Amino acid sequence: TNSLKNKVAIVTGGSRGIGAAIVRRLAADGATVALTYHASPGKAETLVSEVQASGGKAKAIQADAGNPDQVRAAVNDVFEAFGKIDILVNNAGILVLGNPGEVTSEDYQRMLAVNVTGMVAATEEALKHMGQGGRIVHIGSNVTQYVGFGTISLYTLTKGAVSGYTRGLVRDLGPRGITVNTVQPGPVETDMNPIDGPVAEVMLPRLAVGRYGQGKDIAGAVAYLVSHEADFVTGAELLVDGGFSA
Ligand code: NDP
Repeated sequence: TNSLKNKVAIVTGGSRGIGAAIVRRLAADGATVALTYHASPGKAETLVSEVQASGGKAKAIQADAGNPDQVRAAVNDVFEAFGKIDILVNNAGILVLGNPGEVTSEDYQRMLAVNVTGMVAATEEALKHMGQGGRIVHIGSNVTQYVGFGTISLYTLTKGAVSGYTRGLVRDLGPRGITVNTVQPGPVETDMNPIDGPVAEVMLPRLAVGRYGQGKDIAGAVAYLVSHEADFVTGAELLVDGGFSA
């Protein structure tokens, strides 16, 4: 469809996994999509070429989500390149597992920086350029509804912050005609959550639908939330988890 024709979107952490699927989907729906990446320049460039080859518009920008200056600079690059920002998808995230006391202070600070502070920096900078009809979507996690297993308390803390930030922003941005929602994926097959990894053994039996999610399952939810169909949807926490939390 062309439902996002003339829209400019930013997807943070768009080089791989769920973010890359969101980039593909928004571009297929007609948006011009800027994606940020950190460690995977080759994957980011390949994705940009893929989108362009299928007639879409995309651009990749290196920006460490854990570095607010780089995040703000990336958002401004997008504004300078395309003249506006309609959609921001805060997807960049990292996961470090460990029992209490096992996750190092460095890893904890890094998770906070990438999953929380980076989201705030991108949002505040994008909001300088976003007007009526603007859309912000945060990628949270179903762990804020139901955790289901151990070693994930600090990651869950960061995703709880994502949910709280969404709800708070709803009140600030409603009057400006901007919606803010969180998509909460369940287990999705990516580098972060490989289907042959140790966590998969615990997760697979709990998935009501009997399978892991794919990036496009999450991208579909994002596509809905940024479309006109969702004009009246703000403050939602949309679980896309194959029934894991039921
Ligand atoms: P992956 O690890 O597969 O991919 C992460 C993406 O984020 C990559 O494109 C990576 O880019 C980017 N990224 C990571 N760190 C940074 C950084 N410091 N700066 C910029 N980009 C960064 O993860 P997923 O695709 O699985 O996860 C995407 C989001 O979905 C995350 O927020 C995650 O917490 C959430 N989620 C995932 C679930 C799952 O089961 N997979 C379940 C619930 C939520 P690069 O390699 O270029 O650094």
